[in-house]
Amino acid sequence: MRIYVSADMEGATGVVSALQTRSDHPAEYAFGCKMEFHDVMAVIEGAIEGGAKEILVNDSHARMINLDISGLPENVRLLSGTPKALGMVEGVEGYDGAFFTAYHAMSGTPLAVLDHTVSGATLYDVRLNGHLVGETGINGAVCAAFGVPVALVTGDAAVCREASGLLGENLVTCSVKEAHGNASADCFPPSRTRNLLREAAREATLRIASKRAPVQKISLPYELELTFKYSRQCDVVSYVPGVQRLDGRTVRMRGSDMVEMRRWINVATGLAGAVAL
Ligand SMILES: [Zn+2]
Repeated sequence: MRIYVSADMEGATGVVSALQTRSDHPAEYAFGCKMEFHDVMAVIEGAIEGGAKEILVNDSHARMINLDISGLPENVRLLSGTPKALGMVEGVEGYDGAFFTAYHAMSGTPLAVLDHTVSGATLYDVRLNGHLVGETGINGAVCAAFGVPVALVTGDAAVCREASGLLGENLVTCSVKEAHGNASADCFPPSRTRNLLREAAREATLRIASKRAPVQKISLPYELELTFKYSRQCDVVSYVPGVQRLDGRTVRMRGSDMVEMRRWINVATGLAGAVAL
């Protein structure tokens, strides 16, 4: 069995502050990297216990060079660096199931550690086929386009609730902390989350093997609406041919290819992020 792991950082054990996720704050960032790696290693152990023979870990946070390859077992490969066309789900096609580790809730979620969607600096919110989605829903839709189930989501309690609402009762979730606010949380220590994550990953792998892991339900064609924080960010994105502007801060794209939709999100946030604020 082949397992794909999309590894973010904000939802990792003990991470509560943006400083712990930013490379321009080296001391705090070192902790974030250590905990992203900790949670990834725990799910790898669980996946192998559950029967996984091959695992690809996609480093999915910011510069995507947070994980230290020197600590990985020999049957695990690391997809490292950016840009990657599909970002957090690059290379997921053909895997038997996907895990989303150390994920965070969508922008605007109350009591959620470091809630945002794709880019906190540019995107206010994202709608896919009329529904508000976060990174779980966006990346889950890409997985669905390839027929890949999402078997496990880990992070704070808020992203676990969001993911369960989206993917249903056959999704395995593992909460490593409960937010008291956007940048504060009641956290389990790594000695506990390692066991929780490992057991959740083992169970998720068994559900993939028995075809019980959920594939996100989404119908064609896709309609993607991006609302930006500032109208001048929306200005530049609206200049792209084929883009429809709905209001001062929102554009819409339609299509029947989720891979193109996912690429479009990256392009649009890149353009919007290049606008001087
Ligand atoms: Zn991240």
